[in-house]
Amino acid sequence: MKYVSDKLAAVGASASVEASQKAREMKAAGLNVASLSSGEPDFPTPAHIAEAGIAAIRDGMTTYTDVRGIPDLRKAIQRKFKRENNIEYDLDNIIAGPGAKSLIGTALSASVNPGDEIIIPAPAWVSYVDIAKLVGGAPVVIQAKAEFGLKLDAATLEAAITQRSRWLILNSPSNPTGSVYTRDELRALGDVLLRHPDILIMTDEIYEHLLFDGVKFVSFVEANPDLKERTLTLNGASKAYAMTGWRIGYAGGPAPLIKAMTKVAGQMVGPMCSISQAATVAALDGPNDYLSERAAAYQQRRDRVMELLLEVPGLNVQKPSGAFYLFVECGALLGSKTAAGKVLASDVDVTNWLLEEAMVVCVPGAAYGLSPYFRISIATSLAVLEDACARITKAVASLTKEAAA
Ligand code: PLP
Repeated sequence: MKYVSDKLAAVGASASVEASQKAREMKAAGLNVASLSSGEPDFPTPAHIAEAGIAAIRDGMTTYTDVRGIPDLRKAIQRKFKRENNIEYDLDNIIAGPGAKSLIGTALSASVNPGDEIIIPAPAWVSYVDIAKLVGGAPVVIQAKAEFGLKLDAATLEAAITQRSRWLILNSPSNPTGSVYTRDELRALGDVLLRHPDILIMTDEIYEHLLFDGVKFVSFVEANPDLKERTLTLNGASKAYAMTGWRIGYAGGPAPLIKAMTKVAGQMVGPMCSISQAATVAALDGPNDYLSERAAAYQQRRDRVMELLLEVPGLNVQKPSGAFYLFVECGALLGSKTAAGKVLASDVDVTNWLLEEAMVVCVPGAAYGLSPYFRISIATSLAVLEDACARITKAVASLTKEAAA
């Protein structure tokens, strides 16, 4: 019996989800695992948000809602885009869904014909490529250059565009690199896109509130108002408000695209959790001084982990300006021999070896389309991070160089 479609067979499981699952299983088995694979804040959902969810249950807000979200939620999203991003959307430009991930699938399902090209600058979040494949699109992964801080530059974008290009997916602050695009960089990309009027832009801004060193966030449409009618601005409650389990994402975009997404969601997803919607209204409209406090805590961890990792021979890290990841370059470790006699040939080997040798869980760069790197999440306590860095340091010290043949 064949259970799996050819299309699905070509799709990988999410590497970060798998790594986190492996860490959970090892912990459950009583092992002392340092898990640096998590893509979610280690802070709780703020109390006023949780209380709004509890009040919604008490008030009997437990029925199906509009597929796009209750009017109060879409109005709160509308206010957020205006207040924080200087973008004016009408209510028919706004849709919410059960997580930003679901909205990416909904948007691509609604707009991609078989073989349409979806340009994805790597390193990129693990799911873009596979969602593109799942909807029958053709992901075109292009390499962002180290000299541009692993961000996409105008010339590289221009060179990737073909007659079949349908979407460009951008992500700032980036998972996995933590790079943040400046207004000028976004404008330079916008100038290229203005010359190619058939391309849609998806700008994933879910890490917007996780910024370091006083860096200011600029939304793609804010930098490129002329491209508003071609851009889907994607965001969500997960990372900013520590609401990963509540499952709310949202987007602003051209009304015909939102209408098409509503049709897909109406058939395949249905409305998101009513209680989570009420909680997200409180998150968007409520006090948010905790955002800068939490960003400061991540920044402190970033600084400490960078300090520790840069002392490890063979590792290199570009300083992230946002999100909660470090993308560690590990090319100098390749060719080394482990204590067990294995030669490390790739970043997948490095992360497998770190798991076995040091019980540290991280995700290989290969999953993000750039090797040899591995991603460390700093969404965990300083104590765990320091312990993990000590284990990595010890493991690297145990490597021996293969004698040249
Ligand atoms: N976009 C990026 C870049 C992410 O890293 C994630 C989660 O890891 C998501 C979107 C999905 O977030 P959610 O589906 O929880 O809204």
